[in-house]
Formats: sequence, structure tokens, C-alpha cells
Amino acid sequence: MSENSEGVGARIARRGLMLVLSSPSGAGKSTLARNLMETDPGFQLSVSVTTRARRGSEIEGVHYRFVDERTFMRMREDDDLLEWAEVHGNYYATPRQPVETAMSEGQDMLFDIDWQGAKQMTEKMRTDVVSVFILPPSMAELRARLMRRAEDRAEVIEQRLKNAAIEIEHWREYDYVIVNDDLDRAFEAIRAIVRAERLRRNRRPGLFDFVNDLLAADWSRDPS
Ligand code: 5GP
Repeated sequence: MSENSEGVGARIARRGLMLVLSSPSGAGKSTLARNLMETDPGFQLSVSVTTRARRGSEIEGVHYRFVDERTFMRMREDDDLLEWAEVHGNYYATPRQPVETAMSEGQDMLFDIDWQGAKQMTEKMRTDVVSVFILPPSMAELRARLMRRAEDRAEVIEQRLKNAAIEIEHWREYDYVIVNDDLDRAFEAIRAIVRAERLRRNRRPGLFDFVNDLLAADWSRDPS
């Protein structure tokens, strides 16, 4: 994994990073997010709240917290949401409290959110956020993937394709852009981003003490 899992570097205190993944539906973002969660124990997944109806394969509290519109609005008014957006006619939001806890504990967090959410997160927590946009190799492939998934009705798929174009227009607002024509390659790219971002100087306040100790050591002594 990264320098965080072993070695001297791993013991240097670091702030958690917030990895934001966005893409149009069907570009492979959920699979990439799942792969990351399964292979990197340093990440915790942010479970969003949504007013959308639950799909057959989804589990309450794992994929989303499914709430009614009244509950969603109350959470918004109570400032319980770090960001929120209306996507495909439903409301989605990131609950604030789990993120604040994770960050203070130096835990990394993964967010599968749209461009509106990514923008709000970047504005609020610029130094902690690393944003990645996943592009499909072509619109024909995107349509094919949405049809294969077959969890949505035909008109929902058409709506998602229209929204895909809107989502893609925001690609420039992200730190990194990956074209997902091959899942393994796309995943490797995400791992490379995570590995480098964990080593960023400004994310590692523990470096101050580490370097001070390095320089305070008696240089003249031969370790043998
Ligand atoms: P789906 O309904 O297919 O699960 O998600 C639709 C879109 O909503 C996806 O692009 C997903 O990334 C986005 N989304 C999911 N949760 C959130 C959230 O908490 N905030 C925002 N802004 N978008 C979200």
C-alpha cells in the first residue's frame, strides 16, 4: 500500500484526505470506489443521505441512508449537511458529522458525489480535498453500461444520459481526470493518486517534529 501502512514514514502524523470521485452515472465510478474500499483499509466511505427510492440491490445505511424529503430538509436546516445537491430530481447530501470525526482522527474518506457536491467540498475544505473525475471512453459505451445495469427504467436512463453531458462539462474543476476504458488501468491510476497525495508535505504536520529530531541528532557520531 502506501507509506502510511509501514516504515518510519507511517508513524509521522498526517491529516486525513478527502478523496472526491465524480463521473456521470455508468462511467464506472461505483466499481472503482468499491475496489478502493475493499483494498485500502485507510479509507472510510462517506454514506450519503438521499430522497431517491432504494434500488433492489441497495442496503439502507450501506449504500445510502434513504430519507423522506421532510427529514432531508430538516437536516439541511439544522446544518447537518456538509454539501447537498439535487441530482436527477432527487436530493443527495453528505452528512457532516462522520467527516469531521474522520478528519480529526487522520482517517481518509471517500466521497462518491456529483460536481455540485465536489464544488462545495472544494470551496469549504480546499487543502483536504483531492478531486478525481472519471470519464467514459465514449457516450455509446456509457449508454451500453447504463442499459446493462438495467436497474433503472428506460426513461430514467434517457434522463441520466442527458445529465451525463452536463456533468462532463465540469471536468475542468477537478484535480485529476481519468478515462475509464479499462477498469484495472483506471483503478491503478486512482491508487497512484492516493499514494502521492498521502505524501504531500502540507498534509503531514508530524514532519515538523520528525525533521527537528533529525537535525537535533548528534551528526558526528558513527552509528557503529
Ligand atoms: P445514484 O442515484 O446513481 O446513486 O447517484 C446519482 C448521482 O448522485 C451520482 O453522480 C452520485 O455521485 C451523486 N451523489 C450521491 N451522493 C451524493 C451526495 O451526497 N452529494 C452529491 N452532491 N451528490 C451525490
